[in-house]
Amino acid sequence: MYRNRTCGELRIEHVGEEVTLAGWVQRSRKMGGMTFVDLRDRYGITQLVFNEESDAELCARANKLGREFVIQVTGTVNERYSKNDKIPTGDIEIIVSRLDILNASDTPPFTIEENTDGGDDLRMKYRYLDLRRTNVRANLELRHKFCLAVRHFLDSKGFLEIETPVLVGSTPEGARDFIVPSRMNPGQFYALPQSPQTLKQLLMVAGMDRYFQIVKCFRDEDLRADRQPEFTQIDCEMSFVEQDDIISLFEEMAKYLFKEIRGCDLGNAPFLRLPWSEAMRRFGSDKPDMRFGMEFVELADVLKGSGEFAVFNEAAYIGGICAEGCASYTRKQIDELTNFVKSPQIGAKGLVYARVGEDGTVKSSVDKFYAPEVLERLKVTMNAHPGDLILIISGPDVMKARKQLCELRLEMGNRLGLRDKNRFALLWVVDFPMFEWSEEEGRLMAMHHPFTAPRPEDVPLLETDPAKVCANAYDMVCNGVEVGGGSIRIHDAELQARIFKALGFTPERAQEQFGFLMNAFKYGAPPHGGLAYGLDRWVSLFAGLDSIRDCIAFPKNNSGRDVMLDAPSFVDQTQLDELQLDLRPKDE
Ligand code: ASP
Repeated sequence: MYRNRTCGELRIEHVGEEVTLAGWVQRSRKMGGMTFVDLRDRYGITQLVFNEESDAELCARANKLGREFVIQVTGTVNERYSKNDKIPTGDIEIIVSRLDILNASDTPPFTIEENTDGGDDLRMKYRYLDLRRTNVRANLELRHKFCLAVRHFLDSKGFLEIETPVLVGSTPEGARDFIVPSRMNPGQFYALPQSPQTLKQLLMVAGMDRYFQIVKCFRDEDLRADRQPEFTQIDCEMSFVEQDDIISLFEEMAKYLFKEIRGCDLGNAPFLRLPWSEAMRRFGSDKPDMRFGMEFVELADVLKGSGEFAVFNEAAYIGGICAEGCASYTRKQIDELTNFVKSPQIGAKGLVYARVGEDGTVKSSVDKFYAPEVLERLKVTMNAHPGDLILIISGPDVMKARKQLCELRLEMGNRLGLRDKNRFALLWVVDFPMFEWSEEEGRLMAMHHPFTAPRPEDVPLLETDPAKVCANAYDMVCNGVEVGGGSIRIHDAELQARIFKALGFTPERAQEQFGFLMNAFKYGAPPHGGLAYGLDRWVSLFAGLDSIRDCIAFPKNNSGRDVMLDAPSFVDQTQLDELQLDLRPKDE
């Protein structure tokens, strides 16, 4: 028997008990004739005591223990003289009578403590050591609890967890596929699923009624803090439902998860449902952070053509936000904000500001172009008060300018401490446009995916005015993060064909790529719809993490590499030959 207790469970009531523990040496210190060792396992840390006076040989062996040695000890639980109220086992210690080294360890490349000295790259390379750290491990524990709660909830609602294949054909979800060559079918490739979208729809055609799966999805996209090339979805689909049915069920699930996992009561009121166009107008984002206000005010009526400022006179969009109490910002602070909006990632041409003084007068960076009455109207339109700072962005492209103002709003939210990680603002964004224009592809693309149903009242516009068609789609947003999204699907082969046509597919290509789905629709497809939650995003939100990486056991780095496994990597020529693949030298 390696142990009869864990390092996290002994308390004052166990004093006098003989116990055997096993774990890792977190650290040891020698004080006079005593040696103290912190022994760690997944459950906690227990202090071990070796006394030179009672067993010099044992103590000498304890003094030789290095960090991360794996040891087994037997001893008696003793009440500590100086207690440590920072850890649950802080009232006791183990007076050790027997020590066995189960495995030695090299000195770890970084300290395995909550505040480690290891940088990101090093910790990724030795992720198995990083995972020994309490805070990183806690994220995985939270993830586990989260998945259990999801399974419990969905099971209670009659959902079946059904696995779908990982080697599939390509299903466009707007990203690039990862492809896998097929040895048995030379020249042909599988694609890894960007999501099980079409498969879950086929499960509805198959009469499964309610499906879910906690499933890996793969998208070959450039990485950002909340993206990984492989990530996990809680993928769901239901038959005989309308948008309201799905929204209310998944709202109930969100409330259940908040209560179970975060101990946070979101109340009984339904979440706000914000039409996409309104979200864009008021917040410049389809995933607005509603923990704070600072809504956009459109200023073209006030500032366009009412002064000599050419930038505004030529702009297609002029919008402002009012930062309460920020009129006292220094030149340096304003410069920082200006540099922020002008940075290449944001790309604004500049930032105009106006301070409202304590006496109510307005002083702006464009004073010389405008009469005082115009600036007064600006103040009134912005509903700005003495002490407030008005920040204005403009530009020739409405969408771009709104996005820039959105970034500025979020930055101000950060600066003013309005984005508290312990507060949660949930909403649905609904009525998305069905299509968006892709410059890259030179055609309309599905904003959600091509299987999304248009709103019934918009179907007649499909051929005449596709830009006006709204989708029967919905996203759940929490604190500025899209935590889930889905739609009512098309279940009619003819309507599906019209959508493919609007997306620029010839009937032959649509048949070639999606024939399996359209054919299935000929055999009694029920009305259906669903949604997928991003598991990694939910968990990082609940754990208050900045990146989803921290709640994934073995994540990829920003270049999509697994630096621990050193993947991706080159393969042997024999493997390439078997697959009948020829690699061209780089410069050809
Ligand atoms: N398959 C979709 C996605 O991955 C979600 C859905 O429509 O259910 O975004």
